[in-house]
Formats: sequence, C-alpha cells, structure tokens
Amino acid sequence: DQFHLVYQPRFRAHDLAPVAAEALLRWNHPQLGAVSPAEFIPVFERTTLMDGVTAWVLEHAFSQLAQWRREGLSLTLSINLSARDVSRKGMADAFISALLCKGLSCSDVEIEITEGEWLRADSLPGEQLQQLAAAGVRVAIDDFGSGYSNFGYLTELPIHTIKLDKSMIDDLPTDRRAQLKVQAVISLAHGLGYNTVGEGAETPEQVALLQAYGCDEIQGFALSRPLSAADLAQQLEEAPYAQT
Ligand code: C2E
Ligand code: MG
Ligand code: MG
Repeated sequence: DQFHLVYQPRFRAHDLAPVAAEALLRWNHPQLGAVSPAEFIPVFERTTLMDGVTAWVLEHAFSQLAQWRREGLSLTLSINLSARDVSRKGMADAFISALLCKGLSCSDVEIEITEGEWLRADSLPGEQLQQLAAAGVRVAIDDFGSGYSNFGYLTELPIHTIKLDKSMIDDLPTDRRAQLKVQAVISLAHGLGYNTVGEGAETPEQVALLQAYGCDEIQGFALSRPLSAADLAQQLEEAPYAQT
C-alpha cells in the first residue's frame, strides 16, 4: 500500500477548460518518505519490477476512470508507459483487455511515451503502438524536445499528441530562441495533424504565450498541480462547461 496515483489536469488552451488528466505515480516509502517517480521509475525500468508497477498503475488508473465515467465525468486519461513496457511482448493485448474489463473504451485513454532510439515503426514497440492506435488508444510523445528528437518516427508511428517538454516552456517569456522553437514545433505538429500540449507552464506569461502560439492544451502548475482523484472530480464538477 505504498503506492498511490495523483492526477494532473490538462486544459484546453483557448478557454482553459479541463479536458484530460495525466495519472502520475507516487511512492511513500516507510523509511525514505516520498520518492519521486523521476528517481524510481528509471531504476525500476532496468528490472522486471517495472512490469508489476505498470500492472498496478493500469489496474488503479482504469478503475478510477471507470468510476469517473459512472459519475458522468468525460475526461480522457493519460497513462505514462516506459520503453520497457512497450517492448514487452503481449503488452498491447494486456493493455486493451485491462481497459475493456473495466467497461471502458480504447478512446477513453491516451498513452504517453518518451522519444528514444527504441521508437521505430519496424520494431516490437512500434508494432504494439500501431496495435494500440488501431484499437483507438491515443498515443502521445512525452517530453518532446528534451533529448533525442528524431523527425523520422514522427511520420512513421501513429501519433496523436506531442507534449512539448517543460525545458522549452521554461524560457518562453525571456528567450526569443525558445519562442521560435515552440512555435516551430506547434506548427510542425499541426501540419502533421497532431494535437499539442505545453507541459510545465508555471506562470501566466507562459500560459498566454502558449495560447498565442495556438498550442491546443496546457498542463502545468500555473493551472493546476497534480490532485487526488477526489479533488480532481471536484474541480471538474466546478467547471461543468468543460464537459462539452
Ligand atoms: P512526465 O510524464 O513528463 O510528467 C510530468 C511531470 O512534471 C510530473 O512530475 C508533474 O508533476 C511535473 N509537472 C507538471 N507541471 C509542472 C510544473 O508546472 N512545474 C514543475 N516543476 N513540474 C511540473 P512527476 O509526477 O514527478 O513525474 C516525473 C516523471 O515520472 C513523469 O514525467 C514520468 O516520466 C514518470 N512517471 C510518473 N508516473 C509514472 C507512471 O505511472 N509510469 C511511468 N512509466 N512513468 C511515470
Ligand atoms: Mg507524462
Ligand atoms: Mg513530460
């Protein structure tokens, strides 16, 4: 019982209505206290422990989403998957059955994967992403622009969403070159028919610039921190216009 999930809402840029949420894992270790997923996921990912952690996340996130659906909330839920998860044979089948078991449909969910060398269409991960996308699961590229950015896979894989990394958003108000990069990525993504999300917006200036550049959605502490499931449901109920 040391794990739990929190949920950070994603807002439609033009009217700041909450339209989606990202499930984020939290670990309260009895001796170490709160351990950040940025620390423990990369370690788990090198071992078979990751498989159990992901199974736990899917079970809990899908149960929560099914409960929100029963309560009439219509947001999309985003789940982070590691390279190891997508490289495991049978993963796409297991993911889809876990969803259907809860009475959910594939279009209720988006998966977030980070770009990397492993992301090629002609590989097992590429095939599983195609299988998930064919079933209706949305695929997002997380942390885009933070490291290995290869435009090759952008047109080879079934991508729906590009999440612009916080490192590009941080410098937006002050750095002309960051502004050019963000505008260029948004324009490229839209040209390819993809949805864009600006990640890690912490100030009203960053939010305003992302809106001005036509970014579709914004996620960041400026709009909301990650919340408990109950707090997120309450926030959505207070913003009923978002449910359209
Ligand atoms: P991520 O998927 O890019 O998630 C966004 C991270 O940025 C989250 O950190 C979130 O709390 C943080 N964040 C959002 N807005 C802001 C902001 O305005 N300012 C700042 N400073 N931070 C912001 P978190 O929850 O610590 O997660 C870190 C990373 O751990 C995630 O990055 C993701 O790669 C990974 N992770 C989290 N949960 C899971 C999971 O269930 N499975 C897998 N495989 N990875 C996970
Ligand atoms: Mg993510
Ligand atoms: Mg990210």
